[in-house]
Amino acid sequence: MNSNELKKGRYLVTGGAGFVGSHLCERLLALGCEVVVVDNFITGRKSNVQPLLRNPKFHLVESDIIQPLEISGGLAGIFHMASPASPVDYMKYPIETLRVGAIGSDNILNLARQKQCPILVASTSEIYGDPLEHPQKESYWGNVHTIGPRGCYDESKRYLEAITMAYHRVYQLPTRIIRIFNTYGPRMRTDDGRVVPNFCMQALANKDITVYGEGKQTRSFCYVSDLVEGILRVIQCDHVEPINLGNPVETSIYEFAHRIIGMAKSQSKIIYCPLPQDDPKTRCPDISRAKNLLGWAPEVSLEIGLKHTFDYFKSTL
Ligand code: NAD
Ligand code: UDP
Repeated sequence: MNSNELKKGRYLVTGGAGFVGSHLCERLLALGCEVVVVDNFITGRKSNVQPLLRNPKFHLVESDIIQPLEISGGLAGIFHMASPASPVDYMKYPIETLRVGAIGSDNILNLARQKQCPILVASTSEIYGDPLEHPQKESYWGNVHTIGPRGCYDESKRYLEAITMAYHRVYQLPTRIIRIFNTYGPRMRTDDGRVVPNFCMQALANKDITVYGEGKQTRSFCYVSDLVEGILRVIQCDHVEPINLGNPVETSIYEFAHRIIGMAKSQSKIIYCPLPQDDPKTRCPDISRAKNLLGWAPEVSLEIGLKHTFDYFKSTL
């Protein structure tokens, strides 16, 4: 199975003007599909999809999905990507984050029910919290601090998973849940606060690289084109339980800072800043399920992916 086999039809992408959503839209259009995006631009930007607006098969609707949504005509499927995703963003917008995960997801699942189409929802590795199992398999229930500063996002996504399963069980809706691990690439906002834009922009300006804590915490970074390929395979399979999508190559944040300084040939020095509360100590996906069900595994190395991403950030200066 691969993305080329996707049914050519009309797809709705919520959050399609965001980082991941815009890459997904681009790929759907390249496959010959029609795409309708609904976005309120809370963390996304019209400029992410500006070049797509020239394509008559692309339609952009500016709307908040916490309001009930009417989309005329049939849909071949829905990709529900709308939600703030960067810790800086969701801590700035905790109520909007909880509402889009709860009310917005309910509205979109209801729309899928009306249209009788499959729906894929974007969950996250954050539902594993600060994990006590490593690497994280889909069977792990997680270790989330519900009332901590990350709780607004983690609980919003746990609710998203719960309501998605409820729609499946009650209405037999064909639902798919993906748990996305740290994904990076061009079109991330330079100021979204995530580690990839922060380190790249700091290295480009020869400014201090802000490692939080001692930098011993680990993350596993997936290039966006690999994620999009995974998403387009998941919508075609009939597996209802969650599927991890991420790159299992794990790195400490300290090593990551050195890698970016080296790649940028930057004069930047590392400085150590306070570790944010509840920052997960490790994160690495077990992707056996995606490999077995979809024949999917990431193909883009960190070296190549970071080079594309770095060139993008350079082009924004
Ligand atoms: P992003 O912030 O760039 O994109 C999210 C988009 O959703 C934005 O365009 C935003 O304006 C839109 N949006 C938010 N609330 C909305 C609302 N109420 N109505 C309409 N639109 C709304 O983030 P991203 O990195 O592209 O993430 C996309 C999805 O993938 C999110 O659901 C996120 O939780 C999930 N995810 C991403 C990552 C990652 O590493 N990028 C990791 C795990 C999960
Ligand atoms: N981080 C860092 N310096 C920064 C930004 C982030 O050391 O300027 C660390 C952060 O503490 C976390 C990791 O990098 O351990 C990834 O952070 P990000 O915000 O990208 O996403 P998260 O995986 O925490 O959701």
